[in-house]
Amino acid sequence: MPEVYRNLIGGEWVECKSKQTFPNINPANIDEVLGHFQASGAEEVQAACDAAAKAQPAWAALPAPARGEYLFKAAEILESRLAKVAEDMTREEGKTLPEAKGEVKRAINIFRYFGGEGARSFSYHIPSERPNVFCYTMRKPLGVVGLITPWNFPSAIPAWKMAPAIVAGNTVVIKPASLAPLSPYRLVEAMVEAGIPAGVVNYVTGSGGAAGNALVEHPAIRAISFTGSCSVGNALHEKLAGRKVRVQLEMGGKNPTIVLKDANLDYAVDILVNGAFFSTGQKCTACSRAIIEKDIYKPLVEKLVARTKALKVGNGLEPGVQIGPAVDDKQLETDLKYIEIAKKEGAKLLCGGNRLTGGIYDKGYFVEPTIFDGVTPEMRIAQEEVFGPVLALMAANDFDDAMRLANGVQFGLSASIVSRDLTRVHQFINDIEAGLITVNLPTAGVEYQLPFGGTKESSFGMREQGPLALDFYTETRTVYLKYTQ
Ligand code: NAP
Repeated sequence: MPEVYRNLIGGEWVECKSKQTFPNINPANIDEVLGHFQASGAEEVQAACDAAAKAQPAWAALPAPARGEYLFKAAEILESRLAKVAEDMTREEGKTLPEAKGEVKRAINIFRYFGGEGARSFSYHIPSERPNVFCYTMRKPLGVVGLITPWNFPSAIPAWKMAPAIVAGNTVVIKPASLAPLSPYRLVEAMVEAGIPAGVVNYVTGSGGAAGNALVEHPAIRAISFTGSCSVGNALHEKLAGRKVRVQLEMGGKNPTIVLKDANLDYAVDILVNGAFFSTGQKCTACSRAIIEKDIYKPLVEKLVARTKALKVGNGLEPGVQIGPAVDDKQLETDLKYIEIAKKEGAKLLCGGNRLTGGIYDKGYFVEPTIFDGVTPEMRIAQEEVFGPVLALMAANDFDDAMRLANGVQFGLSASIVSRDLTRVHQFINDIEAGLITVNLPTAGVEYQLPFGGTKESSFGMREQGPLALDFYTETRTVYLKYTQ
């Protein structure tokens, strides 16, 4: 019998009042139910926010290095069960086991990194204009923070929100994505086992419309950190405007990789395949547009199509599988819908384009890695986020044309270039409209110790991860202290 997982409210694992639950289903094998999670509503969110508000003053009064200690302990606990947590992630989200292991390791690193932040000074001493006056800044936590997370990085994203929030002295209520609530549950469980005081971390599952909405509306909330779609993020932002609730939004992308004519073609193919298709294209930083200088277009595309056709799609638990399923029936439908739109708008299908069927494929939501040729800037496949393994190819006359195409979208999350031309590379770094810029690397694959976030419609508010993450979760106070009278 699949386990029933409960909410964590004020240090107690509890069921929701209605006793309603929802299933967590394996997208690679829909017969497998990993567990049932609480279908919480406003009442549970209210209780979680109340518990967080009650716990916050004592938590903030604890020295920051002592707060960090809990993260170190939780990291150790998580590490001791990495293999199991990663396997659960593959089962609930579909990504391959090596990808899942890498993500859990990243969550562990995030806990350790922010555990260390507890003992670091993150304020300034600034000289005064006046004699005998000592000036400095200090950071104060905001209070209760709401965290709303997506399904595609179900360990890393909850970790990179929870860890800086709590080490800074806030208490949190996390509402994870309904499609992947088990991975964040494992993080919270590790914190509980590490002995974190009751009410510091609260975990409430339930639909976005019910639990998520109630969290955003709760008056105790001082900040909301959200990662997910533009439509939900922008609606939350509108709702919170006027209430002086701090908001951080990390949303969609339409990330380009530019390949210039001097590139090593085999190397460029590696970069494109990794960026576009790994994790089934379900990364906010995935590459969905390859912009290729016309001189190398034909030979590069031939190699790219051959490599893509050889990719092994299947259950991410199987050794050798490179691409897992779409996360659910709706995402599969979206992938197939965009494939049809691209065809209708005149793009030429080079490979893929179908749902995979037969054998194990009939049990899951598998789609072929897909490449479209002849994509023009006004096509929807060139402008809208698909969030699946679908790559649009665009030919560029020269570097300037490539930059025009790359910047000609509403998004600005990540962007990459493949080239050995130092001048062009620097021009790209300077002029590309993206928050995450990579050179001779895929658009995806960021590290926890550096700031993360986009520009334009992709993001709003302060950066996540790295040293800047603490800015969002703290308020700066400025002190002028005269030590003579
Ligand atoms: P989503 O549908 O926007 O959901 C994100 C979270 O918001 C989920 O927990 C969801 O709950 C919740 N939610 C939905 N409606 C809500 C409402 N009315 N009020 C409050 N919360 C609500 O996004 P997703 O499908 O999970 O994730 C895919 C998207 O995330 C893509 O667009 C991707 O680009 C983006 N993403 C961005 C980044 C980044 O850092 N920029 C990283 C990863 C993903 P339910 O799950 O219960 O619906």
